[in-house]
This record gives sequence, C-alpha cells and structure tokens, in this order.
Amino acid sequence: MGYISSDTISLIRERTDIISVIGEYVHLINSSGRTYKALCPFHKEKTPSFIVNPDKQIYHCFGCGKGGDVFGFLMDIEHLTFPEVVKFLAAKNGIEIPKDYDPEAEKREDLYKVLDEAASLYEKALYTEEGKIARDYLEKREIKADTIKKFRIGYAPDSWGYLTNSIGREYKLLSAMEKVDLVKKRDNGNGCYDTFRNRLMIPILDIHGRVAGFGGRVFSAEQEPKYLNSSESETFNKRKMLFNFREALPTIRRQNSAIVVEGYMDVISLWQSGITNAVASLGTAIGTEQIQLLARNSKTKDLNLYFCYDADEAGQKATIRAISIQKDSPINARVVVWDHPELYKDPDEYIKGEGVENFKKMLEKAEDIYTFLVNKRTRGMKPPFEIPVKEKLIQEFKELVQEIQSPIAKSEVIRKLSRLLDIEPNVLEKEFESKRVEGSELSKKANNTVSPELNAEIQRQEWIIKYLLEQPEEIDMVKNVLTADDFTDSQLRAIYEAICMYQDAAGGTLKPAEILAMLDNEKLVSRLSELVTTLEDKPEVPLKECIQGLIRRRLEKKLKLLQKRIRDAESSGDDTAIAQISMEQLEVKRQFDVLINSH
Ligand SMILES: [Zn+2]
Repeated sequence: MGYISSDTISLIRERTDIISVIGEYVHLINSSGRTYKALCPFHKEKTPSFIVNPDKQIYHCFGCGKGGDVFGFLMDIEHLTFPEVVKFLAAKNGIEIPKDYDPEAEKREDLYKVLDEAASLYEKALYTEEGKIARDYLEKREIKADTIKKFRIGYAPDSWGYLTNSIGREYKLLSAMEKVDLVKKRDNGNGCYDTFRNRLMIPILDIHGRVAGFGGRVFSAEQEPKYLNSSESETFNKRKMLFNFREALPTIRRQNSAIVVEGYMDVISLWQSGITNAVASLGTAIGTEQIQLLARNSKTKDLNLYFCYDADEAGQKATIRAISIQKDSPINARVVVWDHPELYKDPDEYIKGEGVENFKKMLEKAEDIYTFLVNKRTRGMKPPFEIPVKEKLIQEFKELVQEIQSPIAKSEVIRKLSRLLDIEPNVLEKEFESKRVEGSELSKKANNTVSPELNAEIQRQEWIIKYLLEQPEEIDMVKNVLTADDFTDSQLRAIYEAICMYQDAAGGTLKPAEILAMLDNEKLVSRLSELVTTLEDKPEVPLKECIQGLIRRRLEKKLKLLQKRIRDAESSGDDTAIAQISMEQLEVKRQFDVLINSH
C-alpha cells in the first residue's frame, strides 16, 4: 500500500467505533458518563485503570501510561504496522483506499511469495522417493496425514540447489530468497545454495497466516543442530512471534488459557490430540514480548498460562527463566509438574504413553509458580533443620513471598513453609513482612515530594492544554501572550508546540485524536492521551486566569533574576549597570501591575 492521505485516515477514524474495536480485547464497563473502564490489556492489574473515551476516540491507562487512538491500540495489541491497521479498519468500515504504486510493498510481497512457494515445494518433496526418510520419521512420531497437511509439513531434500532450481535464478527471486534465509550466498560470491537440506520442514506462520519462516528438524540424533530456524528477517521476528499462535488464538480466547511448550513437534502432537491452544517460541527462550502477546488475548481476567517445558534439566531451567519474565504481565502462570519424568521427557512422549486425558489431568494439577519454586528449592531437604539453615531459607523466600499478589496464594505458601520449617505461620508472616522495600512505592513517594506550589503550576499548564484541545479557536489569543518557554514542564511544552504547529497548518480543525496521531514520541502520546481522557477534570477558573498564572510566574522569575543581578552589580560597585537593571526591574513591575489590574 502506498501513501494514504490524511483525509482517508480521518474518515476511517470517524467511521470506526473505538468502543467496539477495543471491546473485542477487553471487557469494557460503562463507568461514568461517556467513558468506559476495563482491566488494562498491557499491564497486570486488579482494579481497572484503563479508560476509553468514545467522544474523543482515545484510550489511556492510568496504570502503565499506555494511550492513544484506535490505530495505536491495534498496532500495539496485534503487532501490526500502521498501514496494516489502516487497511484492516478501512475494510471493516467499507472504505476504499486509493491504490498507489509502492515499490517497497511490492518487494515485501516478493518475500512472502518465495516463502510460500518454498513451503509448497517442501510439501511436494515429502512425497517423492527421496522424502521417504521424512515420511518414515512422521510415521514413527504417529503424525497423521491430515495433520501433516494442516501444518504444511514438508521435506527439504539433501540438495544444495533444490529451491533455486525450482523457483528460478532470476535476480529478483534470488535476492528475495536470500533476504528470508531460504538460500545463502556462496563465500566466493558465485551464486547461492539452499539453507535447509535433508530436514523435516515446518513452516512458521505470522498472525496473518502467511509463511514467515521455517523450522527445520533433523532425522538422526547425531545431526546438529536439532532444529535449524530461519534467521531473523523482514518477515520473521523471533521475539514477537510464536509457533502456532494464529491457529491457537480462537481456543486461547475461548478457554482463556494457553500452553507454552518447547518444540514444534510438541505443539503438533498436542493439536492432533485435540489440545489446540499450545504454542512454542522460535528456537529461543520465551521473552517478554511473546508473553505480552499471549496475555493480551485474555478478555475479562488474567490468562491462564501453562508452562509445559521438557522434564530434563534444560527444560526446568527454561521454566525458571520463563517464570522470572512473566511477573509484570496480566497472566496467571502455572507450571506443569511431570508425572513420571523418568519415563517421558516431553508432551509428545507423555501423550503417547499416558493418553491425552492424563495429560489434561496433569494440566489441572499444574502448580502456581510460587508453590513450584518452593518445592523446587526444598526438594530432597529433610526437616528438622538447624536454626542457621532456617534463617537462610527464610531470607531466600522473603523476596518470593513479598512478590505474591494474591492473598490466597500468599497464605498458602506461608503455610507450606511454616510446616517445612516448623515455625508458627504468624511468626513467619511477620518475618516476611519486615523491611519491605518496593520500587513502585518508593517512586510514589518521590512524586509526592513535589511542592504544592509547583503542582498548582503544572496543573495550570495542563488546564491550558485542555482548553486548547477543546477550543482550538483560542490558540491565536494564547500564542500572543504565552511562549512555549512559559510551559516549565518539558512534556507539556512539547505538546503545546505540537498543538500550535499542527492546528496552524490545519486551520484549527484538528480533533484531539488527530493531534495525538501526529506525535511520534511515546511519552508525549501517553501524556496527551491522559489529558484527553481527563478533559472533564478542569477547574471552574476561566482560561484567562490560567494564562495569567503562567505570566505571573514568568515575571516573578524575571524579578528574582534582576534582583540577583542588582546585588552582584552593587557588590562590584558598577553604578551604570545598577541603573540599567533598575530600569528593567521597573518595567517588569509595571507589567505585573497591568496583569493584576486586568482581572
Ligand atoms: Zn496499563
């Protein structure tokens, strides 16, 4: 898609019902008047601080500061680009976007085209004579024909030129194939060779269902690495994507739960057994962005996320790591504890040995992360303990216990530890509560130390911005008496400058959401969306008084500066300077009088 005119974007914004779009992701409650409230999909919280204002077409979260218009919301929650959101909303509202030629978009289309073609070629190779090794492997893993078709599983022949021979050697195609790591350039610069050879090929789809990359699995234990993944490319972002995410999404939303497993074959095997909400990260440990991606799809309450990593040492380490990164996300994380870890090392083996019903039972028995961590730390330890050991354990568990939000989980963990350490629960509780230091509380305190005077000053600046958002026709009047420097808060200053500049250019016709969309700084977007969602919080005092407040402050500052200069001049005996500064002082005082008398 090429350049999209701002008229088209304004039209889309007007026709889009922000409440129904955002309501697809969170449970919106009509709170007061025309605004809606919900639990924020971008951070973990127990009471709603996520506000949507349909009149202003803006949302803002008072917990994490995320805010913006409907375009920004969809970009964040669906990981879409701006043009993709525009396209989506335009289609939804029956608005046609004029098509312009865009060479970049065409090149990107080429990337998806060769990826899809490669997937088809690998699928085709699976049924050749050479592909028998892959078919045997799939048979051994009991993967059925329709599953193979569903996941588009294929085979990369043991050849250096399968893809180039089939897709072609045209420069455009070769360069596209190289960009998405289907082929690599030879070191001597002479042509290309296939990246994947003699591997089982599993395509990895993006959220739109396009082939974005591949995972290639070996057939024998000796071959390394076990999984070879496409390297990062324009189409393949390993941090932001998950294997099977698109297909799992309907079940994840319906059941409000997702299972994270280690391997693609685990996902496929679970799917075949009717468990359709499993995903896997792409050859790297699961990261914050992927957890967020999952968390955003719970509607009314925290998503239940089951970590079901392999039973071996590496899998358990990965579990601990996953636990440590999920803390701030709105999810309810649980860890699957293996029955018979000595027999089965992954979900695929377990289901084959014990059946899918037992796997489901194992899921139901999954431990909350705290219980999991306590059990893991104390496994094999036999009470009674010596006092120093008890003290050491209490210190170790202190941080863990203080992190637990849920009172039920907390008392449960304390009870468990109390039995283990043979200490009364209330004694233990006191011990855990002591010297509690929390980053967020500290920073809250820091904010409260702002003097009331400064607070009032910043409030006045906020009010002026709010007036200007509602009455853009006043901008010229304000510009005549205030300069950007009168805004001492740097964010408000930048917002004031942006409002003046954009409204000037648009003849004062811009709505708050349109100004917001023009800001390219995340902090400014957050501050402005907060102002827009709190437009009703405005004093009874008229705009003029707020402006006068700012001017008074400016003059006071100037007077103080002049007084200091006079003192300096006096101590150095510079009479001409004293006379000159005194004149300036008189002028400022005169301005002050004018200001006060203009009331
Ligand atoms: Zn939030």
